[in-house]
Amino acid sequence: MVSGSDQHGTPITIKAEQEGKKPGEIAARYHQQFLESWQKLGISFDLFTTTGTANHAQVTQDIFLTLLGQNYIYKNTSSQPFCPQCKRFLADRYIEGTCPYCHSEGARGDQCEACGKPLSPAELIDPHCRICGTPPVFRDTEHFFLKLSAFNDRLLAWIKKQTHWRPNVLNFSTRYLEEGLKDRAITRDINWGIPVPVDGFEDKRIYVWFEAVIGYLSASKEWAASSGDGEKWRSFWQNNEAKSYYFIGKDNIPFHTLIWPAMLMGYDDNFNLPYDVPANEFLTIEGRKLSTSHNWAVWLLDYLASYDPDPLRYLLSINMPETSDTDFSWREFVRRNNDELVATYGNLVHRVLTFVYKNFDGAVPTYTDMGVTNITTITQAYAELELKASTVLNNMDNELSKCHFKFALTQAMRLAQEANRYLDEKSPWKIIKENRQDAAKSLYVALSVISQLKTMLYPFLPFSSQKLHEFLGFTGKIEDYGWKWQVLPPGQKLLPPQPLFTKLDDSLVEEETKKLGQGPT
Ligand SMILES: [Zn+2]
Ligand SMILES: [Zn+2]
Repeated sequence: MVSGSDQHGTPITIKAEQEGKKPGEIAARYHQQFLESWQKLGISFDLFTTTGTANHAQVTQDIFLTLLGQNYIYKNTSSQPFCPQCKRFLADRYIEGTCPYCHSEGARGDQCEACGKPLSPAELIDPHCRICGTPPVFRDTEHFFLKLSAFNDRLLAWIKKQTHWRPNVLNFSTRYLEEGLKDRAITRDINWGIPVPVDGFEDKRIYVWFEAVIGYLSASKEWAASSGDGEKWRSFWQNNEAKSYYFIGKDNIPFHTLIWPAMLMGYDDNFNLPYDVPANEFLTIEGRKLSTSHNWAVWLLDYLASYDPDPLRYLLSINMPETSDTDFSWREFVRRNNDELVATYGNLVHRVLTFVYKNFDGAVPTYTDMGVTNITTITQAYAELELKASTVLNNMDNELSKCHFKFALTQAMRLAQEANRYLDEKSPWKIIKENRQDAAKSLYVALSVISQLKTMLYPFLPFSSQKLHEFLGFTGKIEDYGWKWQVLPPGQKLLPPQPLFTKLDDSLVEEETKKLGQGPT
């Protein structure tokens, strides 16, 4: 699992100009914030690097020169927008206008955010300089072009076989290829970025989107080198048993399903192409398009200063825009936390652990005919729910590998509901006085299901799963036990019961909603 932050996008240079800083300082500041956010949110990578390393520049220039040698990159003079006021060429985000396809305003020189289409500056309607608003003039300048047209047929044949892709990703990419790919300029008249390794191009740089996708390969190489075996990256890139997944948002689809595969095809036929690109649709906030430049955002570090990470992870997972756009609202956040995490899952855990702790000397209950703690030795009536839990655990494994995250999570939450119903039916709290054995059995079954829930919910709720792991008397890290049913040893000491989740107050909805539109604090 490798990733990293981009150092070279024009948003970084624009921000640097606004703040009077160097682009490298801006990039480094954001990189630190990303690292802190991942760590606090429980998201871990084997390597989270940047595209500012010497290794990345070297891998990029190698791919550039190889494609150049194969004539997949060629030189051409083209007319590019130039701001007569600022006296410079307007690359990518330095130019804005109206999208010729969907007619949204604020489309950029490289892409329209609203419809996702890659654009070239000449296509924009009413173009103007982002910095001073002046309409540009077009001037001739020499650049390198990636010959995407040469890959159109191969890409189409390959994409048609990717029937396991999400329909939106597959349809978007196919439509594109059926219209025919155009060659794209992959250098820019800017001085921030990876140098073009060709004489005469000293004042130009490699276009960020050509080199940013190379980050997947360069990060793998950096990871291999740091692991002590510099060749280890090959088992991911050159072994055709390896499946690579690219997790992105829908505005990045063409770069991952068309441009990057084309670059890989041209660079080396033995490299693995993406196995899956499970791009998400958009998440809106309170019904409006999320925009960090307009401060219409929930700032992660602000969120984490007030709330636990798991409720947010839960909402973003259960409400993930897997196949269509979804909305984040603070009301939904409170509702999901209180009704689902607290009332369904948290309550199941809390009522079972509290009752067991009080009535069975703070330990996992034992009953006479339990034998070995294995589903086959527990009588059928009791085993049914445990069997169900095992099935859910296996199904979830399968669904997760297909990137069906919402469906996987829903199955686990349904199991928690069933465990609640099971307890209502068995009522161990009522029968304990006349039939302690029966009460012990149903509580043992409930605890077993809870022990499986902590595993199946771990990818979604890592912090509460680790807590629950310890509540149940286990030590060490939950992930070390792997994706399997962790059998509870009878008699294992439990921790004194504490709630797994905190109920949130409705008043936060208004408070937090008011903060939208303001910057991070
Ligand atoms: Zn558009
Ligand atoms: Zn200007």
